[in-house]
Amino acid sequence: MKIAIVGSGYVGLVTGVCLADFGHDVVCIDKDQAKIGALERGEIPIYEPGLAELVKSNVASGRLSFATALATAVPAAEVVFIAVGTPSRRGDGHADLRYVYAVAREVASAVSGFTVVVTKSTVPVGTGDEVAHIIATTNAAADVAVVSNPEFLREGAAIDDFKHPDRIVVGIEDERARAVMSEVYRPLYLNKSPLMFTSRRTAELIKYAANAFLAMKITFINEMADLCEAAGGNVQEVARGMGLDNRIGSKFLHAGPGYGGSCFPKDTMALVKIAQDFGSPMRLVETTVQINDQRKRAMSRKVIAACGGDVRGKTIGVLGLTFKPNTDDMREAPSIDIIQGLLDKGARVVAYDPHGMEAAKELIETVEYVSSSYAVAEDADVLVLITEWNEFRSLDLDRLRAAMKSPVLVDLRNVYSFEEASKHGFTYFSVGRPVGAGGTLGLTQAAE
Ligand code: NAD
Repeated sequence: MKIAIVGSGYVGLVTGVCLADFGHDVVCIDKDQAKIGALERGEIPIYEPGLAELVKSNVASGRLSFATALATAVPAAEVVFIAVGTPSRRGDGHADLRYVYAVAREVASAVSGFTVVVTKSTVPVGTGDEVAHIIATTNAAADVAVVSNPEFLREGAAIDDFKHPDRIVVGIEDERARAVMSEVYRPLYLNKSPLMFTSRRTAELIKYAANAFLAMKITFINEMADLCEAAGGNVQEVARGMGLDNRIGSKFLHAGPGYGGSCFPKDTMALVKIAQDFGSPMRLVETTVQINDQRKRAMSRKVIAACGGDVRGKTIGVLGLTFKPNTDDMREAPSIDIIQGLLDKGARVVAYDPHGMEAAKELIETVEYVSSSYAVAEDADVLVLITEWNEFRSLDLDRLRAAMKSPVLVDLRNVYSFEEASKHGFTYFSVGRPVGAGGTLGLTQAAE
């Protein structure tokens, strides 16, 4: 099939390259000329494991190409995916749909013959209706079926997620789209990934419901970690004890510094706004958003408490900046708020991240960026592990300790254990685990 993807970021590029790998003829379009130029030179603008190899092989096979103008590919395409960003609208937290609507207008002018226009971007319920309306009013002759096909991939595991999804959700209003979308995803369907057809509005709601539920699950275990600290329990064991219950499941029950990233913060916020607009507020999600926002600054207070209550003039070494491992994405990363909280109190912050430092430099300028974990430890008063990259899981603790001014480790991802850290001479703090058996520093205590 001939497919055009408009927007070649994390989602558009992964979607495009995977669909090309399934055998479709794909053109990935982006208005960012630098991005397209880089892709044409074989350079991948984002860090995503396995992506570079897959782009290379599909470009070589002739099934994948890149363009900056819709006119290059949309007229010939049977399917056009919209995969542009839907960030939080400045000021009110609604999803900002201007990029989606701009693409809808451009697509309307460029389509030729029956075309399925698929919204892959995460959009509020009713956006598909508006996209259909925009296309109809921009070009009355356009023969399109507007479909919602939200994406559930995770950065860091995006290719595997796209190729082995738990489900594919397709929201349609025009029956002609059913056969077309089945053909797009045929290789997955044959692999027994359930292809679930719903109405367009239901599909739009499923995406927000899934993200908000996962954000709530993370937030639940984070609050449980606080209770463990106050009451003397071990959150990892609580999570295991809960997660072994099949009705609950063990995923997204890892206590930490709060969720971040390009999706959960903006999508939970957008769902809150959507629900309020419909007069049907989602109070659990509203509370989740508040708790998560407060948690990031609470983590800086935890670090300050680990430094004896004052970080002025002290050197804080930060391991990991991205919102999770295996991505270079810094959008809404908890590290941003945590570091800002430390800088505000007069700390000097030195940081290292395997792939996130370029993006981080744009967001937090006053940090000194270095090129290894051991350089971070140099003369540091405390080390704070914020993102659990694999390379931070087996650090040479003796070497780190030797480089530091004082051997204090605040492990916000519970990567190490109290026993292991103390064996190497560290004073160790983690999240939701008792002192002496995981090492903890209560948030209440930290706030004092
Ligand atoms: P992104 O910012 O990485 O990419 C968006 C791209 O669209 C950019 O390269 C931008 O230049 C391009 N663009 C904007 N307007 C354009 C236009 N008029 N014509 C051509 N290109 C245009 O965004 P992303 O992370 O890929 O997210 C895209 C959508 O997918 C969002 O709605 C997001 O919520 C959703 N989503 C993201 C993820 C994720 O993990 N990143 C997962 C699932 C869903």
